[in-house]
Amino acid sequence: MTTSGLPTRVAIALGSNLGDRQAHLAYAIERLREFLTNVRVSSIHETAPEGVDEPQPDYLNAVVSGGTTLQPLALLHRLLTIERERGRTRPSLRASRTLDLDLILYGDDVINTPELTVPHPRYKDRKFVTEPLSEVW
Ligand code: ADP
Ligand code: MG
Repeated sequence: MTTSGLPTRVAIALGSNLGDRQAHLAYAIERLREFLTNVRVSSIHETAPEGVDEPQPDYLNAVVSGGTTLQPLALLHRLLTIERERGRTRPSLRASRTLDLDLILYGDDVINTPELTVPHPRYKDRKFVTEPLSEVW
């Protein structure tokens, strides 16, 4: 756990495949800038949905990195709030979403709680995360 007041470098994955995808990502990036320093934003990648049972629209994906003094759970709660601001609902697992914000990396921290797993499980298998991540990390 990071206890000093120095910012910890974090990576957040953004995804959207419902509604105005560009607008959802742009909104999220502006909101993230409110509590991240030295923000780096990857290019936006358009990707086919993976691991879904029903056909789904394609995603726009990106990764943002930056420094934060927020503790991990406080950061997660900010992310979930921003999702809600874009009308995110969870009708079923892996359903289409207006905005998904996942905490991929929080410095070198390893976190395993019921609410938060970091590094995000399976991110290394997801090209839609690793490719934009490599642009900003
Ligand atoms: P997914 O992104 O896998 O489709 P959701 O966005 O519906 O799933 O997230 C469901 C829950 O996953 C969140 O409420 C959160 O508590 C939990 N979670 C666990 N680890 C993480 C993480 N690293 N980033 C974001 N959410 C996480
Ligand atoms: Mg999520």
